[in-house]
Amino acid sequence: MPNVVLIYADDLGYGDLGCYGSRIRTPNLDRMASQGALFRHFYSASPVCSPARAALLTGRYPVRCGVPGVLYPSSTGGLSVSETTMADTLRAAGYATMCVGKWHLGLTEQYLPTRRGFDEYYGLLGSNDQLPVLMHNTEVIEAQVDHETLTARYTQQAVQFIQRSAERPFFLYMPHLAPHVPVVPSPPFRGKSGLGPYGDVVMEMDWSVGQVLEALEAKGLDQNTLVIFTSDNGPWFQGSAGRLRGRKGDTFDGGMREPFLARFPGRIPAGRVVEGFASALDLLPTLAALTAAPVPANPLDGVNIWPMLTGEAESVERPAFLYFDSWNLQCARLGPWKLHFARYNSAAFTAMPAVGRMNLRLLNPELYKIDEDPSEAYDLAGEHPEIVARIEEQVRQQLPSLPSRVLQAWEDTQRRGVKPNGSGEWPVPEL
Ligand code: MG
Repeated sequence: MPNVVLIYADDLGYGDLGCYGSRIRTPNLDRMASQGALFRHFYSASPVCSPARAALLTGRYPVRCGVPGVLYPSSTGGLSVSETTMADTLRAAGYATMCVGKWHLGLTEQYLPTRRGFDEYYGLLGSNDQLPVLMHNTEVIEAQVDHETLTARYTQQAVQFIQRSAERPFFLYMPHLAPHVPVVPSPPFRGKSGLGPYGDVVMEMDWSVGQVLEALEAKGLDQNTLVIFTSDNGPWFQGSAGRLRGRKGDTFDGGMREPFLARFPGRIPAGRVVEGFASALDLLPTLAALTAAPVPANPLDGVNIWPMLTGEAESVERPAFLYFDSWNLQCARLGPWKLHFARYNSAAFTAMPAVGRMNLRLLNPELYKIDEDPSEAYDLAGEHPEIVARIEEQVRQQLPSLPSRVLQAWEDTQRRGVKPNGSGEWPVPEL
């Protein structure tokens, strides 16, 4: 059975890697791309941290998993205990499992990684701007961690896990702390990128990927290991979403479309570039299919994209992909088309507008042809009413299967008074 290494950046933009057009030098990630597959339309299931991780590890929309929004140190919730994680799934198939890095799916005992399918855990339970407490399994090993040491220490843990797991199939999940704020490169990387601390920490993460690849090669495991790299959400205040509109917290593509690389010599053709749609929801079903692991009992929102990785198919059949901001369903994508039907009255992470931040329906839904218009700059709803109707119909079909809080938020949004807005504008409430 193949080993699986899943490396996950935090708040890395679609345009922040060399192989996606960045000036930041990322030779190891570029090598992953040239030796494997690079996806141009790979989406997280949320524009923020915790829900993105919930979806990644369960193959289900975050609204189904008890994590619709970001968890804070004061949060008592976490990834619903009724969910089966990717680690549970692979462990049931005989894998040794380890999580090294940021968890962000609950702080109390029942939510800890070692209760959610991981044999071993080393890292911070929240974002690096939250609790600076370094954990090993369920024990605190440093109450006040020095952030600039963490990427190197995570890397050492990952390499040691690979070295000691060579006798048995393993799953390594490595959610980095970078380039989330505070952006703190270690001394060897300070000033190295010429693109500020953000560029430096991306280079440091790239170095870490190189160390992991080297450890696999040194053990003769790289021919039997699938290595995946992606990110949870778009860039926050630094970093680049490339030509995509929006950033972290937005359901514009810049908040949710991510770099995605997958390397598996002999199984995934070298230099493959995939234009079809895929999502983090798809990784659990794909890994279950690849490893013949039992599929979780909860119905999955993702689909098996292995044929897209190998080149057997350019895309796979699936229902419209839904873009949520917390409980609010705001957009849907079907093939190359994306329809916006609701939006907040202000951008994410800005000061509250005078009337408060609220989700409002767009009286005139906006349609963008994402493959040709990555900036969501040219509304084609007027030209293609039949596509608008087709996507609206798919959303109507999917709504009843979603949790009641989603339906409630949907109805609240439909009821709220709103003034007509021009394409791409923030809607304004009618008070
Ligand atoms: Mg994040």
